[in-house]
Amino acid sequence: MREPLGSHFRRLPRDFCRGLHSCNRAQRRDLKSARDTGKIAIAKGTRDAESAELDVSSRLATILVTGGAGYIGSHTLVELLAAGYDVVCIDNFSNSSPEALRRVERIASRPVRRVDGDIRDKRLLELAFAAAPIEAVIHFAALKAVGESVLRPLDYYDNNVGGTISLLHACRGAGVKRFVFSSSATVYGIPQKLPLTEDMPLSPVNPYGATKLVNEQLLRDLCVAEPAMSVVSLRYFNPIGAHASGLIGEDPRDIPNNLFPCLTQAAIGQRERLSVFGSDWSTRDGTGVRDYIHVVDLALGHVCALRHCAQSTGFTPINLGTGRGTSVLELIKAFEQASGQPVPYQIVERRAGDIAECYADAGLALRLLQWRATRDVKQMCADGWRWQQGNPSGYS
Ligand code: NAD
Ligand code: UDP
Repeated sequence: MREPLGSHFRRLPRDFCRGLHSCNRAQRRDLKSARDTGKIAIAKGTRDAESAELDVSSRLATILVTGGAGYIGSHTLVELLAAGYDVVCIDNFSNSSPEALRRVERIASRPVRRVDGDIRDKRLLELAFAAAPIEAVIHFAALKAVGESVLRPLDYYDNNVGGTISLLHACRGAGVKRFVFSSSATVYGIPQKLPLTEDMPLSPVNPYGATKLVNEQLLRDLCVAEPAMSVVSLRYFNPIGAHASGLIGEDPRDIPNNLFPCLTQAAIGQRERLSVFGSDWSTRDGTGVRDYIHVVDLALGHVCALRHCAQSTGFTPINLGTGRGTSVLELIKAFEQASGQPVPYQIVERRAGDIAECYADAGLALRLLQWRATRDVKQMCADGWRWQQGNPSGYS
């Protein structure tokens, strides 16, 4: 059965209230007052969305996405909506903008239910779980700046580990057993051998990486204690690029440290030149090598992970990378070819704490998730450049 999306939007408040039937009276009252005071919002559709159509009969389960307004979260929301899932996003916008969610709706022509606030707020989390029958959680919400984590470890453990604990309590309360966690290749620390496989020793070298490892250990322990739990921990390599529409992308709040945003800023003239950290590494051209992965490929990996969760139990760590390494100079060249824009750069000293080379063995993702990255570095650069050109100040 097909029906116009316009009528779906008109029906949203009633859909929303349907979730109330599964809560007790006190929760129902809190939920209503949270909605009335704007703590919980049902995002409005855009003109594009209203003119589109939605195949309601093919709709899948509802997924709670923490940190969905962020860089990877927003791209994943688009793919979840495209795959037919309904989504509830909880985000405190500490490193993102609500505009990202409006753009997600525009791309997907589907609504995003929003709960604005912090995942450490247990009451708010309860309300989020009560707002709809949640089938699974994808947990992106975290602080992620490595340098900052060295200066503010307490804040990082509080947000990243405290946030996960609070979320897992809420999952237990709501009977949710499927959980996809945003981990990172940083849990491996200095690679002993390449490519990195999931069974290699874990030894992060900074507090940010340590919070990811603590979360993984917690999830591993929980899966032993609660055998019905199904957790996939996705260890991302280096996500770059943006959605092909140019509507969503990476919008760093502070001065970025990662290579790709620094590179696009140099290309657009927002910084004089890119600093290349060292040309004396033991790599093919002397510059650092990483496994860059298109953010849309990464997002699709989450949809595959959800399907895997539905068919398995226990804790499964899985690398999401391409399996190919690209050097800094190779990325600059690919970017110049894709954009037609020269990138001014200079070679400077090595950055403290850097490693020469890091790339994934992506075989387990293919075997368990039937997922592989399909977008090459040139496409990452072309899409990232489109986003940067169209949104020189990000979402603001
Ligand atoms: P991001 O900062 O763009 O997104 C994180 C989102 O979480 C933001 O919208 C932020 O406002 C929100 N958030 C943070 N703490 C919160 C809290 N306590 N309550 C509610 N919302 C909160 O980061 P991203 O690049 O999209 O990364 C997403 C996840 O992937 C993170 O867990 C990050 O550690 C992990 N990861 C990212 C990369 C990368 O290079 N981007 C690499 C490996 C792993
Ligand atoms: N890099 C660089 N200039 C920059 C930022 C990064 O040359 O302004 C190099 C860095 O030394 C590394 C690669 O780019 O070799 C990727 O760095 P990034 O911080 O993006 O990822 P990570 O090192 O965390 O994997």
